[in-house]
Amino acid sequence: MAVAQSGVTAAMLRGFLSRKVTLARRRAGSQELFKPPSERNMGSPPTREDARTIVGGRSPGSGDELRRGIASMPPMVGVEITWFGHAAVFIEMDGVRMLTDPVLGHRIGPLVRVVPEPEEPGPVDCVLISHLHADHADIRSLRAVRCRGPFVAPHPGEAWLTGRGLADAHGLCSGQGIRIRNVQITAIPAVHDRRRWWLGPAANPVGYLIRGSRSVYFAADTDLFLGMAELRGQVDVALLPVWGWGSRVGPGHLDPESAAAAVALIAPKLAIPIHWGTYVMAHTARRAADRARPAREFAAYAERYAPAVEVRRLAPGEGTVF
Ligand SMILES: [Zn+2]
Ligand SMILES: [Zn+2]
Repeated sequence: MAVAQSGVTAAMLRGFLSRKVTLARRRAGSQELFKPPSERNMGSPPTREDARTIVGGRSPGSGDELRRGIASMPPMVGVEITWFGHAAVFIEMDGVRMLTDPVLGHRIGPLVRVVPEPEEPGPVDCVLISHLHADHADIRSLRAVRCRGPFVAPHPGEAWLTGRGLADAHGLCSGQGIRIRNVQITAIPAVHDRRRWWLGPAANPVGYLIRGSRSVYFAADTDLFLGMAELRGQVDVALLPVWGWGSRVGPGHLDPESAAAAVALIAPKLAIPIHWGTYVMAHTARRAADRARPAREFAAYAERYAPAVEVRRLAPGEGTVF
């Protein structure tokens, strides 16, 4: 539909396809296209000359027309989500580009990354930081992000960010929000440890509800809490943590079963498991391990506790649209 809205391609595509069919018929003799594939005589593969005929004599190589068509399209309605691994998620909604908890490097303290480092996502309109743990607020990654808007963090984490050279840092307490064009971002409480280290800066962790033409709940790190039920009916896509990096997860986290219980409470249309399979303790990195197990178990529990909710398991670096 978006293609047709551009005003460029609906007629072009019809013309293109009819020329292609005519060419194929000419080559194959008659109604070859409408026979089962096993009975077709499709002849030799198309040559560059055939391609020239298909596009009406223009050079087939430039693609300028298509590029112009795409550039003139209105912003996509819906949300595009790419999981970069751990809690780093690129979200594009209504033309607003957001990045959550960007931790993108090979190493964070004792943890190493066991999946490829993500490609640079390009400029974003804001970065959403859920809490100050090193696997969510990584100064090196934050400095590397091309952010043309605020770095949003739970209050008073913005002072910690400013002290590290991130100029446009903005603090939110849970319940408070910030608006970027047509997208409203609200901090949601989370039940999780508030300190960065045993001693050091602290801020009450939050998740974020991002609302525009779709709504996305980024839970970040949290334990299960009944207040999640207040999100019921408000969430299209829930990004839920289901594991961590070790052999178990402790209090203040969701495991596959409690994350599925969160799905039952929130009842989103779509649930995507995050915070699994990305970083491990360095000394275990070479061990054979079933690193996809947490996401698989989450999907199985969600099928049992909330069968109406779709679950999409993305691999790190993989994206989806809703
Ligand atoms: Zn944490
Ligand atoms: Zn974490």
